Amino acid sequence: MIWSLVKIIFFVVAVAALALGAGWLLESEGGIQIVVAGREYTLGPLQSVIALVALIFAVWVLLKLLGLLLAVWHFLNGDDTAISRFFARRKYSKGFDALAEGMMALASGEARTALAKAEKADRYLDRPELTSLLTAQAAEMAGDRKKAEETYRKLVTNDATRFVGVRGIMKQKLADGDTDTALQLAEKAFAIKPKHEETQDILLKLQADKEDWKGARATLSAKLKHGSLPRDVHKRRDAVLALSEARKILEEDETIEAREAAIEANRLSPDLIPAAVMAAHGYIEKGQKRYATRVLKKAWEAQPHPDVAAAFAEIEPNEGPAERLKRFVALTKTKADHPETKMLMSELHIAAEDFPAARRALGDLAESDPTTRSLTLMAAIERGEGASDAVVQGWLARAVTASRGPQWVCDNCQNIMGAWAPTCNNCGAFDTLTWKRPPSAEIALPGGSEMLPLLVGAPEQTKDGTDVTVVDDADVIEAEDMGNPAVKSS
Ligand SMILES: [Zn+2]
Repeated sequence: MIWSLVKIIFFVVAVAALALGAGWLLESEGGIQIVVAGREYTLGPLQSVIALVALIFAVWVLLKLLGLLLAVWHFLNGDDTAISRFFARRKYSKGFDALAEGMMALASGEARTALAKAEKADRYLDRPELTSLLTAQAAEMAGDRKKAEETYRKLVTNDATRFVGVRGIMKQKLADGDTDTALQLAEKAFAIKPKHEETQDILLKLQADKEDWKGARATLSAKLKHGSLPRDVHKRRDAVLALSEARKILEEDETIEAREAAIEANRLSPDLIPAAVMAAHGYIEKGQKRYATRVLKKAWEAQPHPDVAAAFAEIEPNEGPAERLKRFVALTKTKADHPETKMLMSELHIAAEDFPAARRALGDLAESDPTTRSLTLMAAIERGEGASDAVVQGWLARAVTASRGPQWVCDNCQNIMGAWAPTCNNCGAFDTLTWKRPPSAEIALPGGSEMLPLLVGAPEQTKDGTDVTVVDDADVIEAEDMGNPAVKSS
């Protein structure tokens, strides 16, 4: 209410003041003189006020006009952004075209083209992680190692592409044979991507090569954890690693730890012959003959092997041939028809000088499965039974050219190794050694069979007058000795 009253009063006062002002202006003398183009205008006081108001209005209109112009300029500016966007789009599409062409060239094996396209794509696109990938692969294919390495180093700096970079450099180091650096890089790559199967395998191989068995076992369990390894394969390989660990510890003269590791390896994979033998040795040292017997029996069940028989003999080193024969029945009653079992029994009978029993034990093995060992055993039996030198020599001559029977053969490259090892010394593959017959005749004496008539008969003169030396059969038997200490001790 008061506010309305104040407003009314203010209005009345303003009107009164205006009326008074107008009256005062009309009555007052003078005004404003304006000269325009030589003509003089004289404005009276009231006219001057009206002209001033008109001027203010004109300025306002001008300002509005200026705003409009500015808007137009903005509009034009906006048009410019659209144009630049248009150009950017063109640049992008050119870049992606180059990238696509580069990938196509890479797939068709045109390394140089791919490299050029990668460079072009890099110029147009601001996507170094994409274009560097193409550059690295193209450089690798073109054999430009320096450029490839440079690009890999660039990739390492980006989080998204670090793995690719590390892997690239690691492969280069592997190709250079710089396994120390490669191992470090493999560890790094494994830390970034523990599920990457290829990295796991490379790391495992490098660790095995460096005999870092503990590290290798950790990698192997990561492989199992991430599902790239069946559980039974893991168990077997873990056993191989545990055995390798045991052998290494044994070299360092820490027999107790080695014994434990060997027993662990044997537990993981009872059919791993060297683990069984080592575990048995451990038990024998501790005086636990029953455990040793059990371990070896289990191994024999899985794979009859001369090393198992030798270890079995060591359980009782001082027994006589008859007691030994009796004790070995426990081992040989399983797999009785296996050639290894037959040969072992035959050897034990020969040691006990029971040659007819030895012949029975061997059966027709010398005919059905003639190997150096079975033929040498036949020679020993014939000699024991008092056969003529010619007969004995005949068997020995055949033994020289016969197959050597099962050996440690690499499943990967068919390399034959004298003793079991976790990795093949030829191809470097891990756990590929199998006790089996080499796929082809590993030794073929040139003209072996043609020599037989000369060897089998009594020594005779050759054309040039020298004696054909017939190998002393006793020496051969000793040299070959059926490769088994089971017989030696008696
Ligand atoms: Zn191999």
